[in-house]
Amino acid sequence: MSASPTAVSPTADAADAAVAAITGAANQDVTFSLALTQDQKDIRDWVHGFAADVVRPAAHEWDEKEQTPWPIIQEAAKIGLYGFEGLAQFFADPTGLTLPIVNEELFWGDAGIGMSIMGTALAVAAIFGQGSGEQIGEWIPRCFGTVDDIKVAAFCASEPNAGSDVSGVRTRAKYDEATNEWIINGQKAWATNGGIADVHVVIATVDPELGSKGHAAFVVPMSEAKGISQGTKVSKHGLRASHTADVFLDDCRVPAAYVLGGKEKLDERLARVREGKKSNSQAAMQTFESSRPTVGAQALGIARAAYEYSLEYAKEREQFGRKIIENQAVAFTLARMKLEIDAARLLVWRASWMGRNSVKFENAEGSMSKLKAGEVAVWVTERAIQILGGNGYTREFPVERWHRDAKIYDIFEGTAEIQQLVIARAISGMYIK
Ligand SMILES: Cc1cc2nc3c(=O)[nH]c(=O)nc-3n(C[C@H](O)[C@H](O)[C@H](O)COP(=O)(O)OP(=O)(O)OC[C@H]3O[C@@H](n4cnc5c(N)ncnc54)[C@H](O)[C@@H]3O)c2cc1C
Repeated sequence: MSASPTAVSPTADAADAAVAAITGAANQDVTFSLALTQDQKDIRDWVHGFAADVVRPAAHEWDEKEQTPWPIIQEAAKIGLYGFEGLAQFFADPTGLTLPIVNEELFWGDAGIGMSIMGTALAVAAIFGQGSGEQIGEWIPRCFGTVDDIKVAAFCASEPNAGSDVSGVRTRAKYDEATNEWIINGQKAWATNGGIADVHVVIATVDPELGSKGHAAFVVPMSEAKGISQGTKVSKHGLRASHTADVFLDDCRVPAAYVLGGKEKLDERLARVREGKKSNSQAAMQTFESSRPTVGAQALGIARAAYEYSLEYAKEREQFGRKIIENQAVAFTLARMKLEIDAARLLVWRASWMGRNSVKFENAEGSMSKLKAGEVAVWVTERAIQILGGNGYTREFPVERWHRDAKIYDIFEGTAEIQQLVIARAISGMYIK
């Protein structure tokens, strides 16, 4: 793996090579180790350099503007950090650690900009996890566009009445035999990049009687499909450089082949479910389960930024004739911050390694990692504000932004309560409500 994957236009060959790199790596299980390889260190340092030189200096401006930082996404594309080939190379690392390392470093720079760069990955994960080889080759490169014509992608599962309870999805996809198309109707809520993306992966129900087992994922490209539009753009507490909006689907038609996995497989799966046979088929949950450790790594990046900043501040700031870090109250807080961050990282890396090395999650280790990292990020950033005192509460210093950004990690991709529910069910084998 090269330290800085070069940006390549999304040709079919490049896509095939990237898919081959990922699937090839899936068969090389490796032992878990905390000793990073030289490749991993090089990639970490390369992403850190981009985060420090390009992302962090622009963070305040884009947070204030509340807009997608297209020029910075383009910079990321130019160096190969944003794009299919880059993501494929990170994912292909058989240890599973490169992806969380990249996310931690990028989000250390800024979470809002980080989400604008990595938000596309959720749609990519859905296509990669549920699409056929042909769909992967066609749609994943289109999620990113090219360096000269950057695109982002959106994953649309949530709805106004379906947040934690994904089975509440009401968006309906009906097959129209006459035209060999799907007709999709419904409203999606909270979609990262919703309406500004080209590729939207939309979770819709094909058979409402089957609950979440009747769901399927559809590719809806804004550039081709009529009847898809952006609703209200949300004004947020944090992650303000990342676009979040409702998406409306109003008699939106897409070809039959745009259902991920293909219509034939979907029909077979639904038939199995109707016969009461086992089917591992919850389209939205599959995507969330695979992405949780990576999301945890993003939270870690924010926490680390706040810890490092407040450590330096405490070593400089003097009160009562001494540095404030010379007071145990402050020094012990910093010690706990470091401890919690390192503990969370171990959980994130464990889950990332397990997910990559066909080690079954027995105790919802993916959920554990995301829950812990989210809570640590919220706690560490709040403590960082405390260490900076009045300065910490102002927009002149970055810690208040980091605290605002951190809070989302308790909420999206499964709230803290839902992660506990998942863990509780896994450890007990019982249906805890
Ligand atoms: C910035 C942002 C970006 C997002 N990006 C996306 C995206 O790209 N795609 C997408 O599909 N969605 C996205 N979401 C949606 C996100 O996943 C949901 O907000 C989240 O799943 C929670 O759903 P909800 O907001 O409806 O809260 P609710 O489900 O209404 O929950 C409200 C509260 O009730 C608690 N609760 C609910 N059920 C239970 C239970 N059984 N036991 C205990 N407590 C419970 C929750 O934990 C929470 O505290 C995004 C949200 C935000 C804010």
